[in-house]
Amino acid sequence: MNHHRAIPAIDTLVKQSQFHGELPHQLLVGEARLLCTQLRQQSDDIPPMAEIVTRLDTRIMAVLQGTQQAVINATGVLLQTNLGRAPLSMAAQAAMLLHAGASSIEYDLVQGRRGERNQHLTPLLTRLTGAEAGLIVNNNAAALMLILAAHAVGKEVIVSRGQAVEIGGGFRIPDVLRQSGATLVEVGTTNRTYVADYAEAISERTAMILCVHTSNFRVRGFVHEPQLSELADLAHTRGIWLVDDVGSGTLLDVAGYGLTPEPRVPDRIAAGADIVCFSGDKLLGGPQAGLIVGRTAAIHPLARHPLMRALRVDKTIMAGVHATLASYVKGTAHHDIPIWQMIDASVATIQARAEHLRNRLGAGWQVRECRSAIGGGALPEDTLASYAVVRHGLDCATWARRLRLQRPAVVTRIADDALWCDMRSVLPEHDDALYTALAQLTAH
Ligand SMILES: *Cc1c(COP(=O)(O)O)cnc(C)c1O
Repeated sequence: MNHHRAIPAIDTLVKQSQFHGELPHQLLVGEARLLCTQLRQQSDDIPPMAEIVTRLDTRIMAVLQGTQQAVINATGVLLQTNLGRAPLSMAAQAAMLLHAGASSIEYDLVQGRRGERNQHLTPLLTRLTGAEAGLIVNNNAAALMLILAAHAVGKEVIVSRGQAVEIGGGFRIPDVLRQSGATLVEVGTTNRTYVADYAEAISERTAMILCVHTSNFRVRGFVHEPQLSELADLAHTRGIWLVDDVGSGTLLDVAGYGLTPEPRVPDRIAAGADIVCFSGDKLLGGPQAGLIVGRTAAIHPLARHPLMRALRVDKTIMAGVHATLASYVKGTAHHDIPIWQMIDASVATIQARAEHLRNRLGAGWQVRECRSAIGGGALPEDTLASYAVVRHGLDCATWARRLRLQRPAVVTRIADDALWCDMRSVLPEHDDALYTALAQLTAH
Protein backbone atom coordinates (compact mmCIF):
# COMPACT_ATOMS: atom_id res chain seq x y z
CA MET A 1 0.00 0.00 0.00
CA ASN A 2 2.81 2.31 0.98
CA HIS A 3 4.57 2.34 -2.40
CA HIS A 4 1.45 3.60 -4.20
CA ARG A 5 2.08 6.99 -2.65
CA ALA A 6 5.48 7.18 -4.38
CA ILE A 7 3.93 7.26 -7.87
CA PRO A 8 4.33 10.84 -9.08
CA ALA A 9 1.47 12.99 -10.30
CA ILE A 10 1.03 12.80 -14.08
CA ASP A 11 1.63 16.51 -14.45
CA THR A 12 4.88 16.48 -12.48
CA LEU A 13 6.12 13.56 -14.51
CA VAL A 14 5.25 15.12 -17.86
CA LYS A 15 7.02 18.38 -16.96
CA GLN A 16 10.28 16.50 -16.38
CA SER A 17 10.21 14.63 -19.68
CA GLN A 18 12.86 15.67 -22.21
CA PHE A 19 9.99 15.94 -24.70
CA HIS A 20 8.02 18.44 -22.60
CA GLY A 21 7.10 21.41 -24.78
CA GLU A 22 8.39 19.58 -27.87
CA LEU A 23 5.81 16.89 -28.48
CA PRO A 24 2.02 17.20 -28.10
CA HIS A 25 1.04 17.45 -24.42
CA GLN A 26 -1.70 14.84 -24.93
CA LEU A 27 0.81 12.26 -26.15
CA LEU A 28 3.00 12.78 -23.08
CA VAL A 29 0.04 12.66 -20.68
CA GLY A 30 -1.28 9.49 -22.33
CA GLU A 31 2.06 7.71 -22.08
CA ALA A 32 2.61 8.93 -18.50
CA ARG A 33 -0.82 7.54 -17.50
CA LEU A 34 -0.08 4.13 -19.06
CA LEU A 35 3.30 4.04 -17.30
CA CYS A 36 1.80 4.96 -13.92
CA THR A 37 -0.91 2.30 -14.29
CA GLN A 38 1.84 -0.23 -14.96
CA LEU A 39 3.79 0.91 -11.90
CA ARG A 40 0.67 0.65 -9.76
CA GLN A 41 0.03 -2.90 -10.94
CA GLN A 42 3.50 -4.27 -10.34
CA SER A 43 4.25 -5.41 -6.83
CA ASP A 44 7.92 -4.37 -6.57
CA ASP A 45 8.99 -1.03 -5.16
CA ILE A 46 8.33 2.14 -7.10
CA PRO A 47 11.65 3.38 -8.59
CA PRO A 48 13.03 6.88 -7.94
CA MET A 49 11.59 9.80 -9.89
CA ALA A 50 14.56 10.09 -12.31
CA GLU A 51 14.16 6.43 -13.29
CA ILE A 52 10.43 6.89 -13.93
CA VAL A 53 11.16 9.89 -16.18
CA THR A 54 13.72 7.85 -18.13
CA ARG A 55 11.17 5.09 -18.60
CA LEU A 56 8.62 7.61 -19.85
CA ASP A 57 11.08 9.04 -22.38
CA THR A 58 12.09 5.54 -23.53
CA ARG A 59 8.43 4.67 -24.09
CA ILE A 60 7.84 7.80 -26.14
CA MET A 61 10.96 7.20 -28.25
CA ALA A 62 9.88 3.61 -28.88
CA VAL A 63 6.47 4.79 -30.12
CA LEU A 64 8.05 7.33 -32.47
CA GLN A 65 10.76 5.03 -33.81
CA GLY A 66 8.48 2.06 -34.22
CA THR A 67 9.63 -1.53 -34.33
CA GLN A 68 10.42 -1.74 -38.05
CA GLN A 69 14.13 -1.00 -38.39
CA ALA A 70 16.68 -1.04 -41.19
CA VAL A 71 18.72 -4.24 -40.96
CA ILE A 72 22.11 -5.45 -42.12
CA ASN A 73 21.43 -9.04 -43.13
CA ALA A 74 24.40 -11.13 -42.00
CA THR A 75 22.34 -14.32 -41.67
CA GLY A 76 23.59 -15.88 -44.91
CA VAL A 77 20.02 -16.31 -46.16
CA LEU A 78 19.91 -14.07 -49.22
CA LEU A 79 16.11 -13.73 -49.51
CA GLN A 80 15.02 -13.60 -45.86
CA THR A 81 11.22 -13.32 -45.77
CA ASN A 82 11.34 -12.00 -42.19
CA LEU A 83 13.82 -9.32 -43.31
CA GLY A 84 11.69 -8.15 -46.25
CA ARG A 85 13.07 -10.50 -48.94
CA ALA A 86 14.87 -8.87 -51.89
CA PRO A 87 16.94 -5.73 -51.28
CA LEU A 88 16.07 -3.27 -54.06
CA SER A 89 18.36 -2.08 -56.83
CA MET A 90 19.54 1.54 -56.83
CA ALA A 91 17.39 2.12 -59.91
CA ALA A 92 14.28 0.75 -58.17
CA GLN A 93 14.95 2.86 -55.06
CA ALA A 94 15.44 5.99 -57.15
CA ALA A 95 12.27 5.30 -59.14
CA MET A 96 10.22 4.81 -55.97
CA LEU A 97 11.49 8.09 -54.56
CA LEU A 98 10.82 9.91 -57.85
CA HIS A 99 7.23 8.68 -57.92
CA ALA A 100 6.55 9.39 -54.24
CA GLY A 101 5.01 12.70 -55.25
CA ALA A 102 2.35 13.01 -57.94
CA SER A 103 2.73 10.38 -60.66
CA SER A 104 0.79 9.57 -63.82
CA ILE A 105 -0.23 6.18 -62.39
CA GLU A 106 -3.75 6.53 -63.81
CA TYR A 107 -3.45 9.53 -66.08
CA ASP A 108 -2.81 9.72 -69.81
CA LEU A 109 -0.32 12.54 -70.29
CA VAL A 110 -0.75 12.55 -74.09
CA GLN A 111 -4.53 12.88 -74.08
CA GLY A 112 -4.74 14.80 -70.80
CA ARG A 113 -7.37 12.55 -69.29
CA ARG A 114 -7.81 9.55 -67.06
CA GLY A 115 -5.45 6.74 -68.07
CA GLU A 116 -5.06 3.01 -67.58
CA ARG A 117 -3.15 1.94 -64.48
CA ASN A 118 -2.77 -1.66 -65.57
CA GLN A 119 -0.76 -0.91 -68.71
CA HIS A 120 2.52 0.46 -67.35
CA LEU A 121 4.36 -2.86 -67.14
CA THR A 122 2.89 -4.51 -70.23
CA PRO A 123 5.69 -3.56 -72.68
CA LEU A 124 8.37 -4.92 -70.32
CA LEU A 125 6.50 -8.03 -69.15
CA THR A 126 5.58 -9.11 -72.68
CA ARG A 127 9.13 -8.63 -73.97
CA LEU A 128 10.67 -10.47 -71.03
CA THR A 129 8.31 -13.42 -70.94
CA GLY A 130 6.92 -13.78 -74.46
CA ALA A 131 3.38 -13.52 -73.06
CA GLU A 132 0.65 -11.45 -74.72
CA ALA A 133 -0.41 -9.59 -71.57
CA GLY A 134 0.70 -8.81 -68.04
CA LEU A 135 -0.68 -7.51 -64.76
CA ILE A 136 0.64 -6.57 -61.32
CA VAL A 137 -1.04 -7.07 -57.92
CA ASN A 138 -0.01 -6.83 -54.28
CA ASN A 139 1.81 -10.20 -54.07
CA ASN A 140 1.75 -13.66 -55.57
CA ALA A 141 -0.82 -14.89 -53.04
CA ALA A 142 -3.12 -12.11 -54.28
CA ALA A 143 -2.34 -13.09 -57.87
CA LEU A 144 -3.54 -16.64 -57.26
CA MET A 145 -6.68 -15.44 -55.45
CA LEU A 146 -7.51 -13.10 -58.33
CA ILE A 147 -6.96 -15.80 -60.95
CA LEU A 148 -9.29 -18.17 -59.09
CA ALA A 149 -11.88 -15.46 -58.44
CA ALA A 150 -12.00 -14.47 -62.10
CA HIS A 151 -11.97 -17.95 -63.64
CA ALA A 152 -12.97 -20.63 -61.15
CA VAL A 153 -15.77 -19.53 -58.77
CA GLY A 154 -18.29 -22.37 -58.52
CA LYS A 155 -16.11 -24.51 -60.76
CA GLU A 156 -13.49 -27.21 -60.32
CA VAL A 157 -9.73 -26.73 -60.29
CA ILE A 158 -7.53 -29.76 -60.86
CA VAL A 159 -4.32 -29.94 -58.81
CA SER A 160 -1.83 -32.79 -58.51
CA ARG A 161 -1.74 -34.29 -54.98
CA GLY A 162 1.99 -33.62 -54.93
CA GLN A 163 1.30 -29.90 -55.44
CA ALA A 164 -1.54 -29.28 -52.94
CA VAL A 165 1.10 -27.76 -50.69
CA GLU A 166 1.61 -25.20 -47.95
CA ILE A 167 3.95 -22.49 -49.18
CA GLY A 168 4.60 -21.00 -45.74
CA GLY A 169 3.02 -18.35 -43.55
CA GLY A 170 -0.21 -20.37 -43.54
CA PHE A 171 -0.65 -20.11 -47.34
CA ARG A 172 -2.11 -23.53 -48.21
CA ILE A 173 -3.29 -24.27 -51.72
CA PRO A 174 -6.40 -26.26 -50.61
CA ASP A 175 -7.43 -23.41 -48.27
CA VAL A 176 -6.86 -20.73 -50.91
CA LEU A 177 -9.04 -22.67 -53.34
CA ARG A 178 -11.84 -23.16 -50.81
CA GLN A 179 -11.66 -19.48 -49.83
CA SER A 180 -11.96 -18.40 -53.46
CA GLY A 181 -15.13 -20.43 -54.00
CA ALA A 182 -13.52 -22.99 -56.30
CA THR A 183 -13.63 -26.73 -55.71
CA LEU A 184 -10.31 -28.53 -55.47
CA VAL A 185 -10.07 -31.78 -57.40
CA GLU A 186 -6.89 -33.58 -56.39
CA VAL A 187 -5.44 -36.09 -58.82
CA GLY A 188 -2.60 -38.61 -58.74
CA THR A 189 -0.60 -39.42 -55.64
CA THR A 190 1.85 -37.49 -53.49
CA ASN A 191 4.80 -38.74 -55.52
CA ARG A 192 3.43 -39.69 -58.96
CA THR A 193 0.85 -37.97 -61.14
CA TYR A 194 0.33 -38.65 -64.87
CA VAL A 195 -1.37 -36.78 -67.70
CA ALA A 196 -4.03 -39.52 -67.68
CA ASP A 197 -4.90 -38.63 -64.06
CA TYR A 198 -5.64 -35.07 -65.14
CA ALA A 199 -7.52 -36.21 -68.26
CA GLU A 200 -9.85 -38.45 -66.26
CA ALA A 201 -10.70 -35.66 -63.82
CA ILE A 202 -11.79 -33.12 -66.44
CA SER A 203 -15.55 -32.56 -66.64
CA GLU A 204 -17.86 -29.79 -67.86
CA ARG A 205 -17.43 -28.22 -64.40
CA THR A 206 -13.64 -27.91 -64.75
CA ALA A 207 -12.28 -24.37 -65.02
CA MET A 208 -8.56 -25.04 -65.06
CA ILE A 209 -5.57 -27.19 -64.34
CA LEU A 210 -3.45 -25.47 -61.70
CA CYS A 211 0.24 -26.27 -61.35
CA VAL A 212 1.96 -25.09 -58.17
CA HIS A 213 5.72 -25.07 -57.80
CA THR A 214 6.65 -26.94 -54.61
CA SER A 215 8.90 -24.01 -53.77
CA ASN A 216 10.38 -24.81 -50.39
CA PHE A 217 10.69 -28.59 -50.50
CA ARG A 218 11.57 -31.40 -52.90
CA VAL A 219 10.20 -34.92 -53.20
CA ARG A 220 12.92 -37.21 -54.53
CA GLY A 221 13.21 -40.73 -55.83
CA PHE A 222 10.16 -42.48 -57.30
CA VAL A 223 8.44 -39.32 -58.53
CA HIS A 224 6.65 -38.18 -61.67
CA GLU A 225 4.88 -35.01 -62.76
CA PRO A 226 3.90 -34.48 -66.43
CA GLN A 227 5.74 -31.93 -68.58
CA LEU A 228 3.97 -28.59 -68.68
CA SER A 229 3.63 -28.86 -72.48
CA GLU A 230 1.73 -32.18 -72.09
CA LEU A 231 -0.70 -30.49 -69.70
CA ALA A 232 -1.04 -27.54 -72.10
CA ASP A 233 -2.02 -29.90 -74.92
CA LEU A 234 -4.57 -31.60 -72.68
CA ALA A 235 -6.03 -28.34 -71.34
CA HIS A 236 -6.35 -26.81 -74.79
CA THR A 237 -7.99 -29.84 -76.43
CA ARG A 238 -10.51 -29.89 -73.56
CA GLY A 239 -11.10 -26.13 -73.58
CA ILE A 240 -9.85 -25.27 -70.07
CA TRP A 241 -7.08 -22.98 -68.82
CA LEU A 242 -3.63 -24.08 -67.73
CA VAL A 243 -2.46 -21.91 -64.82
CA ASP A 244 1.08 -22.13 -63.48
CA ASP A 245 2.08 -20.67 -60.09
CA VAL A 246 5.87 -20.77 -60.32
CA GLY A 247 6.38 -19.11 -56.91
CA SER A 248 9.70 -17.31 -57.12
CA GLY A 249 10.10 -17.90 -60.81
CA THR A 250 13.04 -16.31 -62.51
CA LEU A 251 13.83 -14.51 -65.72
CA LEU A 252 17.51 -15.47 -65.62
CA ASP A 253 18.86 -18.99 -65.81
CA VAL A 254 19.99 -19.96 -62.29
CA ALA A 255 21.71 -23.06 -63.69
CA GLY A 256 24.31 -20.63 -65.03
CA TYR A 257 25.29 -20.08 -61.38
CA GLY A 258 25.64 -23.78 -60.62
CA LEU A 259 22.24 -23.89 -58.93
CA THR A 260 19.32 -26.29 -59.43
CA PRO A 261 17.08 -24.85 -62.17
CA GLU A 262 14.06 -22.87 -60.96
CA PRO A 263 11.19 -22.53 -63.46
CA ARG A 264 11.94 -19.71 -65.91
CA VAL A 265 8.82 -17.68 -66.66
CA PRO A 266 9.47 -17.40 -70.45
CA ASP A 267 9.95 -21.20 -70.65
CA ARG A 268 6.59 -21.77 -68.93
CA ILE A 269 4.83 -19.42 -71.36
CA ALA A 270 6.58 -21.11 -74.30
CA ALA A 271 5.47 -24.52 -72.97
CA GLY A 272 1.86 -23.37 -73.28
CA ALA A 273 0.71 -22.07 -69.88
CA ASP A 274 -2.21 -19.65 -70.32
CA ILE A 275 -1.37 -17.82 -67.09
CA VAL A 276 1.89 -17.78 -65.13
CA CYS A 277 2.11 -15.98 -61.79
CA PHE A 278 5.20 -15.23 -59.68
CA SER A 279 6.49 -13.00 -56.86
CA GLY A 280 8.14 -9.62 -57.35
CA ASP A 281 10.39 -9.90 -54.30
CA LYS A 282 11.89 -13.36 -54.62
CA LEU A 283 14.43 -14.10 -57.38
CA LEU A 284 13.05 -11.26 -59.51
CA GLY A 285 14.69 -9.00 -56.91
CA GLY A 286 12.13 -6.19 -56.76
CA PRO A 287 9.50 -4.83 -54.35
CA GLN A 288 6.72 -7.02 -52.95
CA ALA A 289 4.33 -7.70 -55.81
CA GLY A 290 2.59 -10.46 -57.71
CA LEU A 291 3.16 -10.58 -61.45
CA ILE A 292 0.72 -12.29 -63.76
CA VAL A 293 1.48 -12.93 -67.44
CA GLY A 294 -0.28 -14.90 -70.12
CA ARG A 295 -2.86 -14.85 -72.91
CA THR A 296 -4.89 -11.68 -73.34
CA ALA A 297 -8.14 -13.65 -73.08
CA ALA A 298 -7.02 -15.12 -69.74
CA ILE A 299 -5.58 -11.90 -68.25
CA HIS A 300 -8.26 -9.47 -69.39
CA PRO A 301 -10.99 -10.78 -67.00
CA LEU A 302 -8.55 -10.38 -64.10
CA ALA A 303 -7.93 -6.71 -64.83
CA ARG A 304 -11.68 -6.05 -64.92
CA HIS A 305 -12.57 -8.12 -61.84
CA PRO A 306 -13.86 -6.13 -58.79
CA LEU A 307 -11.15 -7.73 -56.58
CA MET A 308 -8.52 -5.99 -58.73
CA ARG A 309 -9.43 -2.72 -57.00
CA ALA A 310 -8.52 -4.26 -53.63
CA LEU A 311 -5.32 -5.90 -54.84
CA ARG A 312 -3.78 -3.12 -56.93
CA VAL A 313 -0.32 -1.73 -56.12
CA ASP A 314 0.49 1.90 -55.44
CA LYS A 315 2.49 4.28 -57.63
CA THR A 316 5.82 3.75 -55.85
CA ILE A 317 5.63 -0.05 -56.09
CA MET A 318 4.65 0.20 -59.76
CA ALA A 319 7.69 2.41 -60.39
CA GLY A 320 10.02 0.12 -58.41
CA VAL A 321 8.89 -2.98 -60.29
CA HIS A 322 9.19 -1.11 -63.59
CA ALA A 323 12.79 -0.14 -62.84
CA THR A 324 13.57 -3.71 -61.78
CA LEU A 325 12.12 -5.17 -64.98
CA ALA A 326 13.96 -2.53 -67.03
CA SER A 327 17.28 -3.94 -65.74
CA TYR A 328 16.35 -7.31 -67.23
CA VAL A 329 15.36 -5.76 -70.56
CA LYS A 330 18.69 -3.90 -70.69
CA GLY A 331 20.53 -7.14 -69.86
CA THR A 332 22.15 -5.64 -66.76
CA ALA A 333 20.09 -7.46 -64.08
CA HIS A 334 22.98 -9.59 -62.83
CA HIS A 335 25.01 -6.53 -61.84
CA ASP A 336 22.21 -4.04 -61.05
CA ILE A 337 19.96 -6.18 -58.86
CA PRO A 338 21.27 -7.02 -55.37
CA ILE A 339 19.95 -10.60 -55.21
CA TRP A 340 21.82 -11.43 -58.42
CA GLN A 341 24.92 -9.56 -57.25
CA MET A 342 24.84 -11.72 -54.11
CA ILE A 343 24.41 -14.93 -56.09
CA ASP A 344 27.00 -13.86 -58.67
CA ALA A 345 29.66 -12.66 -56.20
CA SER A 346 32.81 -14.80 -56.42
CA VAL A 347 33.96 -16.63 -53.28
CA ALA A 348 37.30 -14.82 -53.59
CA THR A 349 35.60 -11.40 -53.42
CA ILE A 350 33.59 -12.44 -50.38
CA GLN A 351 36.70 -13.85 -48.70
CA ALA A 352 38.55 -10.58 -49.36
CA ARG A 353 35.72 -8.54 -47.79
CA ALA A 354 35.65 -10.86 -44.76
CA GLU A 355 39.42 -10.61 -44.32
CA HIS A 356 39.39 -6.84 -44.65
CA LEU A 357 36.69 -6.63 -41.98
CA ARG A 358 38.54 -9.03 -39.69
CA ASN A 359 41.76 -7.01 -40.08
CA ARG A 360 39.96 -3.80 -39.13
CA LEU A 361 38.36 -5.48 -36.10
CA GLY A 362 41.62 -6.98 -34.80
CA ALA A 363 42.12 -9.75 -32.26
CA GLY A 364 39.31 -12.13 -31.38
CA TRP A 365 37.76 -12.29 -34.83
CA GLN A 366 38.32 -15.05 -37.38
CA VAL A 367 37.46 -15.62 -41.03
CA ARG A 368 35.77 -18.96 -41.66
CA GLU A 369 34.26 -20.73 -44.66
CA CYS A 370 30.50 -21.20 -44.61
CA ARG A 371 27.51 -21.82 -46.92
CA SER A 372 24.75 -19.32 -47.75
CA ALA A 373 21.17 -20.24 -48.66
CA ILE A 374 18.96 -18.56 -51.26
CA GLY A 375 15.78 -18.51 -49.12
CA GLY A 376 12.45 -16.97 -50.06
CA GLY A 377 11.08 -20.39 -50.90
CA ALA A 378 13.50 -20.79 -53.80
CA LEU A 379 16.10 -23.53 -54.21
CA PRO A 380 15.64 -25.23 -50.81
CA GLU A 381 18.53 -27.61 -51.34
CA ASP A 382 21.11 -25.31 -52.83
CA THR A 383 23.79 -23.50 -50.90
CA LEU A 384 26.55 -21.21 -52.10
CA ALA A 385 30.12 -21.20 -50.81
CA SER A 386 30.80 -18.15 -48.68
CA TYR A 387 32.96 -16.64 -45.95
CA ALA A 388 31.97 -15.30 -42.55
CA VAL A 389 33.58 -13.14 -39.91
CA VAL A 390 33.26 -15.22 -36.75
CA ARG A 391 33.65 -14.62 -33.03
CA HIS A 392 33.80 -17.42 -30.51
CA GLY A 393 32.57 -16.28 -27.15
CA LEU A 394 30.89 -17.58 -24.07
CA ASP A 395 27.69 -15.68 -24.58
CA CYS A 396 26.82 -15.51 -28.28
CA ALA A 397 23.13 -14.98 -27.58
CA THR A 398 23.85 -11.76 -25.68
CA TRP A 399 26.20 -10.58 -28.42
CA ALA A 400 23.66 -11.33 -31.11
CA ARG A 401 21.00 -9.47 -29.14
CA ARG A 402 23.23 -6.39 -28.76
CA LEU A 403 23.84 -6.39 -32.49
CA ARG A 404 20.11 -6.59 -33.18
CA LEU A 405 19.59 -3.56 -30.97
CA GLN A 406 22.14 -1.44 -32.87
CA ARG A 407 20.93 0.99 -35.55
CA PRO A 408 21.00 -0.19 -38.25
CA ALA A 409 20.25 -3.52 -36.63
CA VAL A 410 22.60 -6.39 -37.46
CA VAL A 411 21.07 -9.86 -37.70
CA THR A 412 23.61 -12.68 -37.48
CA ARG A 413 23.66 -16.45 -37.17
CA ILE A 414 24.68 -18.46 -34.13
CA ALA A 415 26.27 -21.85 -34.78
CA ASP A 416 28.86 -24.00 -32.98
CA ASP A 417 28.94 -21.61 -30.00
CA ALA A 418 30.02 -18.76 -32.24
CA LEU A 419 28.58 -15.64 -33.80
CA TRP A 420 28.69 -15.74 -37.62
CA CYS A 421 28.41 -12.77 -39.99
CA ASP A 422 28.02 -14.32 -43.44
CA MET A 423 29.36 -11.75 -45.90
CA ARG A 424 27.44 -13.03 -48.95
CA SER A 425 24.12 -11.69 -47.66
CA VAL A 426 25.65 -8.36 -46.54
CA LEU A 427 25.41 -5.68 -49.23
CA PRO A 428 28.97 -4.41 -49.92
CA GLU A 429 27.80 -0.84 -49.21
CA HIS A 430 26.97 -2.04 -45.66
CA ASP A 431 30.51 -3.26 -44.90
CA ASP A 432 31.45 -0.02 -43.09
CA ALA A 433 28.27 0.03 -41.01
CA LEU A 434 28.82 -3.63 -40.12
CA TYR A 435 32.37 -2.82 -39.03
CA THR A 436 31.10 0.02 -36.81
CA ALA A 437 28.49 -2.23 -35.20
CA LEU A 438 30.96 -5.05 -34.52
CA ALA A 439 33.63 -2.67 -33.27
CA GLN A 440 31.18 -1.13 -30.79
CA LEU A 441 30.28 -4.57 -29.56
CA THR A 442 33.84 -5.32 -28.48
CA ALA A 443 34.44 -1.78 -27.16
CA HIS A 444 32.13 -2.58 -24.23
C1 LIG B 1 6.06 -17.69 -52.39
C2 LIG B 1 4.97 -18.36 -53.10
C3 LIG B 1 3.66 -17.84 -53.11
C4 LIG B 1 3.33 -16.61 -52.34
O1 LIG B 1 3.94 -15.50 -52.93
P1 LIG B 1 3.96 -14.09 -52.17
O2 LIG B 1 4.54 -13.16 -53.18
O3 LIG B 1 4.79 -14.28 -50.95
O4 LIG B 1 2.54 -13.77 -51.84
C5 LIG B 1 2.69 -18.50 -53.81
N1 LIG B 1 2.97 -19.64 -54.49
C6 LIG B 1 4.21 -20.17 -54.51
C7 LIG B 1 4.44 -21.43 -55.27
C8 LIG B 1 5.25 -19.56 -53.82
O5 LIG B 1 6.48 -20.09 -53.82
